[in-house]
Amino acid sequence: MDHSRDQRDRGRGGPVAKFVLALTLLSLVVAAPMLAWNLPGQKKTALGINYTLRSAELASGKSTTARWNPCQTAITWQANLSGWPAAKRAAMLKQIQTGVAKVSQVTGMKYRYAGNTTFTPRQENLVSAPADIVVAVINPKTTNFSFSENSLGYGGVLWATWYGGDGEGAAVVRGYAVLIPAGMNKLKAGFGKGNTQGNVILHELAHAAGLDHVRSNKQQMFPDLTAKSPNGLASGDVQGLTKVGKKAGCITVPERVNIPDYS
Ligand SMILES: [Zn+2]
Repeated sequence: MDHSRDQRDRGRGGPVAKFVLALTLLSLVVAAPMLAWNLPGQKKTALGINYTLRSAELASGKSTTARWNPCQTAITWQANLSGWPAAKRAAMLKQIQTGVAKVSQVTGMKYRYAGNTTFTPRQENLVSAPADIVVAVINPKTTNFSFSENSLGYGGVLWATWYGGDGEGAAVVRGYAVLIPAGMNKLKAGFGKGNTQGNVILHELAHAAGLDHVRSNKQQMFPDLTAKSPNGLASGDVQGLTKVGKKAGCITVPERVNIPDYS
């Protein structure tokens, strides 16, 4: 046991201090499954909800926004493009890098590309991912997210919650974005309004930054890709990303949340 940490926790712990060791629990919560992003065909509603954040429930029963510590040195990411034709991988990587840069610009969070990986994100292995975020263009049969026939991608976050002597909190510790080759292949390459690969990339990267779906088809976080999908991030997407980004303030993640930090 690290005695100095124990002392420090006690110093801030108040009445619960004597239970600090029992209370310093860490739980990992996989975000509730998000809907895969589908091709048109579903009934659409536009209720003017411009952004939705993910909520993490804390031990006290309070909830907080599940978001990255936007002040971490960098959110590292790696790409697994094994499901995409080799001749087109460089172009795909460039699109993903452009998407990451757009999300970084809006959130103020730094991302660092750490090369390619063979890691396949699955529901149960995210904590052992080789980077904070893995972007994977892979055969959907190799993973276990609930894709449908029309799925284009899947994205989300994994967060840790803690409580104990130095208080409670939550922070996103992993993100993932899975893109389905068969669906992506039907779309126009590059960014722009409507049915573009760039819009799918931005949608899934925004999930990996913490955003959930909205019911306005004018926002990129609408669950379906349609001809009306905006050119890149729309105003509500920007509002949401701002609320999970650097302007929302830093999160101090306690040392006991000992998930490898790749920054
Ligand atoms: Zn989605």
